[in-house]
Order: sequence, then C-alpha cells, then structure tokens
Amino acid sequence: MSRKYAAGWLFLGLAVCRAAVPSPESHFGQRMGADQMVLDWAKVVSYFQSLPDASDRIRVEELGKSTEGRPFIAATIASPETLAHLDRYREIQRRLADPRLTTGSEAERLAAEGKTVVLITCSIHATELASTQTAVEFAYRLLTEDTPRIRAILRNTIFLLVPSLNPDGVDIVTRWYRRTLGTPFEGSSPPELYQKYVGHDNNRDWYMFTQKETQLAKLHNVWHPQIVYDVHQMGSNAARIFVPPWLDPIEPNIDAIIMQESNMIGTAMAADLTAAGQKGVAIHAMYDFWTPSRHYQAFHGGMRILTESASAKLASPITVKAEQLETEALGYNARERSWNFLEPWPGGVWKLRDIVDDQLIAMESCLYQAALHREELLRNFYNIGQRQTARKSPWGFAIAAGQRDPGATRKLLETLSFGQTEIEHDAAGDQVIRMEQPYSGWAKALLERQHYPDMRLYPGGPPQRPYDVTAHTLPLLMGVQVNALDSAPPGLAQGRLPGKPATLKAADSDAWREVSRVWTGGGKVWRDPLTGDFATASMSGWKQIARPRIGLYRSFIPNNDEGWTRWLLEDFGFLYSSLGNKEIQKGSLRQRFDVIVFPDATPESMENGFAAGRMPPEYTGGLGTGGAEALRQFAAAGGTLIFLNRASEYATRHLGVAARNVVHGVSNNEYYSPGSILNARLDTHHPLAAGLPEDLAIWSEQSPAWETAEAAPVHYPESNVLASGWLLGEKYLARKAALVDARIGTGHIVLFGMRPQYRAQSYQTFKLFFNALIY
Ligand SMILES: [Zn+2]
Repeated sequence: MSRKYAAGWLFLGLAVCRAAVPSPESHFGQRMGADQMVLDWAKVVSYFQSLPDASDRIRVEELGKSTEGRPFIAATIASPETLAHLDRYREIQRRLADPRLTTGSEAERLAAEGKTVVLITCSIHATELASTQTAVEFAYRLLTEDTPRIRAILRNTIFLLVPSLNPDGVDIVTRWYRRTLGTPFEGSSPPELYQKYVGHDNNRDWYMFTQKETQLAKLHNVWHPQIVYDVHQMGSNAARIFVPPWLDPIEPNIDAIIMQESNMIGTAMAADLTAAGQKGVAIHAMYDFWTPSRHYQAFHGGMRILTESASAKLASPITVKAEQLETEALGYNARERSWNFLEPWPGGVWKLRDIVDDQLIAMESCLYQAALHREELLRNFYNIGQRQTARKSPWGFAIAAGQRDPGATRKLLETLSFGQTEIEHDAAGDQVIRMEQPYSGWAKALLERQHYPDMRLYPGGPPQRPYDVTAHTLPLLMGVQVNALDSAPPGLAQGRLPGKPATLKAADSDAWREVSRVWTGGGKVWRDPLTGDFATASMSGWKQIARPRIGLYRSFIPNNDEGWTRWLLEDFGFLYSSLGNKEIQKGSLRQRFDVIVFPDATPESMENGFAAGRMPPEYTGGLGTGGAEALRQFAAAGGTLIFLNRASEYATRHLGVAARNVVHGVSNNEYYSPGSILNARLDTHHPLAAGLPEDLAIWSEQSPAWETAEAAPVHYPESNVLASGWLLGEKYLARKAALVDARIGTGHIVLFGMRPQYRAQSYQTFKLFFNALIY
C-alpha cells in the first residue's frame, strides 16, 4: 500500500483505532540482532517517525543534523496522560533541579507529582552497533506490551530515547560491513573514523562540546534527567556485560548520593540480568568515574549508568573458547566466581542477538527501577541540588579582566556556560562563578587542579591504568588565570561575556581566527618580528608572511588525534590537504607543501600501517622506506615536518633527528604520565615560542622527553613538574626538552613532546602548534 493510501486509511480509522504499531521485522525485514543484521540510519529514522501515528505513548523529534547532515532524533515515551502534559513535567524538573527556586515543602509536593526522567543513549561508538537495534525493539515493546513492569514504567517515568548519538557512524559501519561481508575481512572495523573528526573520542567531548552531536544532545539541559544510561560494547573475551557500581577513583566533586544511587540501580540491573538467566554479569570492574568528559550528567544532579557488552565481530557471530577468557580483567577473573562476577559465562558462540537480549533486559530493568523509586529519586535529586548549592569552600572563582588571551578566556566562559554554569561579573569587571549554584561541582572540577590518587594494581605494584585521562583543568589547558575566592567580591551583577579583543596578538586565539580568515580569503598577514604579534594591515617594520600550504598525514588506521587536528585546522580557518602513504611516497612534496603534520601515533603504525592480510590490500602498508626518503628530501629542501607526541619517535628512528628520548623503554612503574598536565618553561626568543608566556602547561600522555644538542625552546623545570593529574618519574623529565627544533638542510623537523592540540582543549599550546605551521 502506498503511503498516501495508508495515510487516508489512518484518517478514516482514527475515530475507532490507530494503525497497528509496525513491528521491527515488518519494517526492517528481519528480527533485530539477527546474524549479519546491520541498519541504515534512514530506515531507523523512518521507523521511529512512523511510531507516533500508531501509538499515543510516543513522540519523536528531530533535534538537528549530525556532522554529515543526517537527522539526529530522539523519542519521548510515556503514558498518554504524561505526554499530554510534558511542559508541566519539564517545569517540575526545572524547579527540583534548582533549590533556590523551590522550598522544601514545594519540593515534597513536586516529588509526589513528578516522573523520573530517564535518558538512554545508544551507539555513540558506532562499531558497538547492537544498541541501536535494541532501541528499535525496546521502543516497540513499550508501545505494544501490557505487562505490570511496562505499565509501571509508562506511568512513572518519562523515557527519552536517542537511538544513536552518532547517526553518521551507523552508516559508516553498515557500509563497511556490507562491503566486507563474505570476505576474509567480514566483521572488521572500518579503516576510517566513525565520527568525521573525533572517532571514538566522541564521548570525550562532554565538557568542551566541540562536536555537533555533543551539542545536539541538549536533552540533558532541557530535561535534567535523573538517570542517563549510555549503552556501549567492549572486548569479546571477558564478562558478557558490565553494569555499575563503578571502580575508583570517583571524581571528588560528584555528589555521594548520585554514586550511591548508581550503585543501587546498577546492582538491581545486575540482579535482573542474573534472574533472567543471563551469565557473565560483572559489576564493580574495569570502568572508573573520573573525567567529566564522559560523565556529564553526574555533575548535573543525575546518574550516569553504563553497560558494556561483550562484542561479536560487528554483526557476525564469534566463538570464544573457555581458555580464551581473561583471567586478569580489572577487578575480576572471567573464569571464576566472585562477589562481583557471580556466574561466569562458560564460553561458546556469541552473537549480536545475545547482546541485544542482555541490553533489552538492562534497559527495562533500569526504567523499572526508575519507576519503582520514582519519589525517592526526585526527592534526592532536589537534595543533591541543595548540597551542591551549599558548597562553601571556596566561595567561588574569579576570572580577572585583562587576560593575556581574551579569546581563550571567552571560550572558557562559553564552555562553562554551555554546561549550565552561571557566571556573574563584579565591580572590577572580573567574571565570577559562585559555588552557590546547583552545578557548582561541575565548575569546580573544571577550574581546579586534579590530584589523581596513586593507584596500584597491588601494593608496590605497577600503576592501575586510568580508564581515560587524569586531568581536566581548563585554566591550565587554555592559559587563563583563574583564582579561588574566599568571599563575594563587591558589585556582583548578572554576567556577560567579554567582548572581542581590540588588537591582534599572537597569544590571542580570536586573533588567530582573524588572521586565518584573511589567509583563507586570500589576503595578507604581517607579523612583528620582535613580539610575534600579527596584523592584517601593513604596519611599518612588520614583515609580511605567507599562508602555509599544509599537508596532514592520514593513514588507513583510524586515528582520533588526526581527526582532532583536522577539526582544529578547520575551526581556525587554515587550509590543508590530507596526505596518505602513497602520496607521500610519490615524493616532490616541497612543490606542493610548506609543512607536513604527523598526528600522535606509534612509529610502528606509521612505518607499517595495517599488516598484509588484516585488511583488503588497498588499505595495507605504511610509509615504508620510500616515504621516509621523500620526507627527508622535503625537509632538506626547506619544508617543515611536525611530529606530535609519540609520532616524534618516527623522526628520531627514520629521519635521523639527533634527540634521545629519555623515557623510551622506561617501565610504567618508573615513568607514568597517563593524560596529565605538566609545567614547562619556554625560550620566548625562539620563533616557535613567539607570543607565549615563559611558563605554560602542556598536555602529556606518555609523552617523550629529549636530551638533544638541537634547539629546544620548551623544556621541563627541575622540579614541580606535575601541574594537574598524575605523574610518576618526575626525575626523568627534569630539565629535558618537550619541544625540539632540528635543522635538516634548509628545513626543520619539529618534535612535540606533548599533544599541543589535545582534544581541541589546549588553547595555550595551540599557539606553539600554529607557530610551527608558519615557521
Ligand atoms: Zn564504547
């Protein structure tokens, strides 16, 4: 039947009954989770958009477009009576979220009246593809089944469902899976990032909000959910599913009530999974609760629940033998019973449908707990806001007017503000953030220094690897001076963002945008040879500089850091071309480029790429000897090669740069810098450091540090190297170089012992990177 006729029949039948809810099988042609089942995003969207015609339990909204222009959708599922009054429930949430608006007795009444708001987000990591299929089937069940549990869920909760936080990735993975189906590469991951710029780091963007998808998930800020359940998959050889409690460390600004509740909800989900007969359920294992880049909601009054299911090979089944199961997973042994892993999975065939089955139970359980505990969860939600608002030490933070980098200062304030931090200004024109506000822990976490605990796998043993990184101090990353306040400064008034800076300085991020806009528009840029400042109109004594022709290395091994670099170059208006192994091997690079950038990657992956047999032949191989020779010629002929972080070792191994990495081969027990902010000193007379302060903070991630006779304009201090996070082995770094400028022929090879463009956050060291681009 055509759509038109169907709509007509629907119209005629409205008075009697709605069209039947279409089953997933009827829409997609197969059961969700069937072997080799992958989804096209357009079909997922059309399925969800067909549901409101057939059911009064659901609404579907397009929140905007993804990075590559696909619809980004969310469903709201609840009883029809609840859906008819969503504005009222949103208002209840808003009032409960902010105890300054609401008295205790009002809160009691609102807790009695309100619903628990639960947001479930799926497949942000697109190769973890099961959860979008689970979302389809789960939505169908909520609209069609009539069990006591589902009735309780519909009556007591408002369920916001995002079937994918990364719609582009759904299609990237589906396309690759179909292309390789029936070949030796069936079930492999695609040889490209599954989010255009940041790949897997798309769930490390939850305080900087750089990517469209992070900005689109504004449901958090509109609805203030009590629970956000984010659905993931992990490796294949340990537990079948992880559910909270989380591992230590727990970020110190997260309210204890939130963690107690997530222990409660997680353990209840584990009990439901076990009661349903599912094996291999792990709790309190593997995943810590530190960085706000993954745990937005936990700083905003709600829980973040995570499940991580064992993966198959995308949609293809696998067999895991008992002896392949891990004995040393973090927190448990996958072959033995323990308090937090009570029924080991014995091994065997593992399919997409097994993952969907576990996730269906977990989703229903999470929502049922939300329904059962509705009133306490809402009361506690208000209580959490009260406790956050009562934070007394410090009174607040001040961001002084007249910062060295007004552009980065503005960006810092915008970032805090997007995360619902309230900002005021005082009589002196400083920006002020008081702790007397519902998300004070959020602002505090991002403004203070982190003291990551010295965690070991066993007493005296090697360090326990943090799940992600250990530092998130934005003032250090962005080069903005922020001071803690003991009391309220005079003349506080509602905040406003500072205006754009009046002059163009190298140390000024907005200035960089201006300059690069001129470049991309074909205009001219002048630079003061003494101060490193920039101007876009000719000034006497200033030197005109040329727009750099940039090549950015991009191999077939998906590399988040490469994507972040692309994003940054585009954000600041630079022009660049991506360069693959074969293009580099062809040589004659100097005719086309002034500078070639190598993002953070291991030297082995650059040299060799994918090994033969691991991928279709057109995706295998690396730079090889031909690539190294072409790069040497490029630099000898006056080009600049820039190597970021671990990629620097490629230059010392293959291009003859004379710098000894003093931490090469040093064990983790001795040197460990797992995503930390370190203090460094600059030689500001060197052109790479032009326009920067003498002291700055750099992003270190097991970064190299050098002894070298070449120019080294950035080096570590003698002591007090750690600025924020966790560092073992300071003595190895003392006085060693963190930036090397090696001459080769008439060109340069620049080694960065840091990630200067770290996840689009390190505004201060962007400038070192930009200086190298125009060297
Ligand atoms: Zn994941």
